[in-house]
Amino acid sequence: MRLRFAPSPTGNLHIGTLRTALFNWVFAQKHQATLVLRIEDTDLERSHAEFEGSILEGLAWMGITLDEGPVQGGPYGPYRQSERIQLGIYQTYAQKLVDEKKAYPCFCTDSDLDSERQLAQTQKVPYVYSRKCMHLSEAEILEKKAAQVPATIRFKIPHAQTLTFRDLIREEISFDMALISDFVLVKSDGTPSYNFAVVVDDMLMEITHVIRGEDHISNTPRQIVLYQALGATHPQFAHLPMILGPDKSKLSKRHGATSVIEYQSNGYLNTALRNYLMLLGWSSPDGKELLDIHTICDNFSLDRLSKSGAVFDVTKLKWMNGQYIRALENEALYAALFPYVSEELRSAKKLKDMMVSVKDNLDLLTDISLYLPVYFNSPESFKEAVSAFAFSEADKDVLIAFKNALVSFQGEELTAEAVDVILQTLLVTTGLGKGKVFKPIRLACSASATGPHLPDFVSIMGKDRIVERVSWVL
Ligand code: GLU
Repeated sequence: MRLRFAPSPTGNLHIGTLRTALFNWVFAQKHQATLVLRIEDTDLERSHAEFEGSILEGLAWMGITLDEGPVQGGPYGPYRQSERIQLGIYQTYAQKLVDEKKAYPCFCTDSDLDSERQLAQTQKVPYVYSRKCMHLSEAEILEKKAAQVPATIRFKIPHAQTLTFRDLIREEISFDMALISDFVLVKSDGTPSYNFAVVVDDMLMEITHVIRGEDHISNTPRQIVLYQALGATHPQFAHLPMILGPDKSKLSKRHGATSVIEYQSNGYLNTALRNYLMLLGWSSPDGKELLDIHTICDNFSLDRLSKSGAVFDVTKLKWMNGQYIRALENEALYAALFPYVSEELRSAKKLKDMMVSVKDNLDLLTDISLYLPVYFNSPESFKEAVSAFAFSEADKDVLIAFKNALVSFQGEELTAEAVDVILQTLLVTTGLGKGKVFKPIRLACSASATGPHLPDFVSIMGKDRIVERVSWVL
């Protein structure tokens, strides 16, 4: 089996394209198939090397490995369509189709085509190209060519056919070919159209399975008749459901970040994003949602793909990211959070302990900037913040008991475990519930109702600072 991921480098890698890459990769892993990266840069003006870089970066970030492509090379290269144009690959096949009378030069201008379209509109019939140029004689063609009239090459669609193909996700889909215009294979500047280049390349690269977005379904009948004309068998097609915004329209910029790089800088873990993207259209047979990549690859099958659009739910993604953060081992947590820590705090003592203490609060890696300051506020700012809270007499009794326990603590180091013992003892001796004990302590020590795990916090701050803080409110 040979699969390909064929992005156009006309912008930064976005979520939808990344999901397509991911599904191809997972399918390839499952079936030990070869995955090819082909850069579809036929639009020379809009394609840029930096966007190819963004695609490669995004794939690497997701852990998507490639078997063949512009970087890896391989026996079917080159893997950039711009380089294949240079080699004349598409021209050769276009000429072959013209020679076999399956394609023809078209000299219609944009304004000729506009008039045809307008006429169809006034007649309220679907627009299909008139085939005016299909009927030109050899002499007329030669004459126009000699006069250097710009020409495209159009493919002669077999209009008499109803084309049916079996999509691996949607099953049978039929198209009335009479409603499809003879489409352009080669533009007047000599570059191939998407539909032409993609078929020539999938054919020459011996691609067996095409997994791509649903927006390409309407291209598929055009591509299939082209395979037939070239005497090739077409690959199997699987069209992934659309990704929708919460309002059920196609996911776009106005729904928030769509570029993959933004997810990275906004504090998402690659593992969480990958898990979430897999659920956009696919579900695990056991209904579980938090799935490691090996389980996903083992359980993946196209028959568990949904036909209807998948809503991109940022709240759920964020929740999932939080789950992945909490599952990180301390070293991995430190490595993941470190880039998101402001520079002046990076050399702080006990930084790793601080990170671990706020692990449960984080949904995004960037949230670390909200939770670390509690360790660094100056006595003045702390006093000001804590003055906003009113402590009852009962609270103060708890604080006195806590302070006394700290002061009389004899151990060498006030570890989180030691603090925990103190707190548990307080619960017993006061006979109060957790809220009544922990809340005033947390407020008096951190001037915040939420924040780090309390025993960790007290231990990291150290006995002296905590005793001092508690004394201020008494
Ligand atoms: N270059 C096309 C795109 O980015 C590829 C479509 C296909 O997979 O055939 O949409």
